[in-house]
Amino acid sequence: MNLPFEETRKLGEATRAIHCGEGVDAETKAIRRPIVLANSFELNDTSETLPESFDWNNPNAFNYPRSRHPNARYLEERLAGMEGGEDCVVSASGVAAISGAFFTLLSSGDHLISSRICYIGIHGFLVEHFAKRFGVELTLVDTTNPAEVQAAVRPNTKLIHVETPANPTTLVSDIAAIAVIAKKIGAIFTVDSTFSGLVMQKPLVLGADLVMHSLTKYVNGHGDSLGGAVIGRKDLISQIRLAASVHLGATISPFTAWLLMRSSATLPLRMKQHCENAMTLARFLEAHPKVKFVRYPGLESHPQHAIAKQQMTGYGGMINFGLKAGKSGYFPFLGALRVITHAVCLGHTESLVQFYPQEGNHPELGVLNYPEDIGEGFIRFSAGLEDIADLTADLAQALDQVPR
Ligand SMILES: *Cc1c(COP(=O)(O)O)cnc(C)c1O
Repeated sequence: MNLPFEETRKLGEATRAIHCGEGVDAETKAIRRPIVLANSFELNDTSETLPESFDWNNPNAFNYPRSRHPNARYLEERLAGMEGGEDCVVSASGVAAISGAFFTLLSSGDHLISSRICYIGIHGFLVEHFAKRFGVELTLVDTTNPAEVQAAVRPNTKLIHVETPANPTTLVSDIAAIAVIAKKIGAIFTVDSTFSGLVMQKPLVLGADLVMHSLTKYVNGHGDSLGGAVIGRKDLISQIRLAASVHLGATISPFTAWLLMRSSATLPLRMKQHCENAMTLARFLEAHPKVKFVRYPGLESHPQHAIAKQQMTGYGGMINFGLKAGKSGYFPFLGALRVITHAVCLGHTESLVQFYPQEGNHPELGVLNYPEDIGEGFIRFSAGLEDIADLTADLAQALDQVPR
């Protein structure tokens, strides 16, 4: 197989995950892309062609790897093909990709509307830096209600940012409905789709201009690298490529790009199993007498289940649940887990849990306060790919340690 990118991107989803950005190396005939570690590239030698070597917006013009390097480009073709976007720019982390996009697209005096519940690093960036120090007007709203987005619109609203499903709450926002609002006012509409694992929802089809992913999560999937991507309109991606890579310098390393390329090939297959395991675990938890509430977009009881059903082809691997015992229950539960690991991050092969306490000294939670119904805290559960019987047995024995 050595189809050009424009051909591979017309193929089916599983095929795109394997073939977009992949190809036979012209020099060695290796059927895997090599890792190119060179930190300099030979330039064009004529006065007509030399400027092409320094066209920062051309993703295939390599000169210095902070601006672009081959492994980043292969990964960008893979992700653009999988997400169905015109182009993609990858960065050193999810936060680097998203903050790089905001830096590029927003100036002081512009107004930004964002999900009130969004990834804590992005929330901190927007509140502490953009709003407090750089004069970007910021309105945080509950984007699960499109009417709140509409009500927040100002004449200078430049960008609307939505995270769905949201981290950590799994709350779902209606992408198509918010796209209509953004289009009407000519604002750029960005969606952080990390929790969808890239294959379970397609925000660009629903009207988003740009989709953002922390590649650290499902795309990597194996718990061993950091990365981020912005995918969508070519004109916007070119601007972000210049600012985020050339000017801000948050470039992904060639080795990391190669690792992400490797793991993304199995993403559609892995996501199916994450979804299946999460659904079974959510139902198991919902039926458990010590569990106070479960939130999973695939459950009928999820507040936005109807929207999730409409805009997602699978509900992902992320679950929230609370314990009836409240504060006295969480630490015995966490301490008793044997297969499941108490650690940050998500989307790994192995199941991970993180406790989100509602009060006390928890520097990891920063300035965020999570919704009312969470009461005395909750567990964010990232359903892994282990045998489902081992996961339910581990949960059952750990829940046995929770006082009534
Ligand atoms: C983890 C995460 C990010 C940040 O990504 P990093 O790779 O950790 O920088 C952004 N958005 C969401 C929804 C995330 O889960």
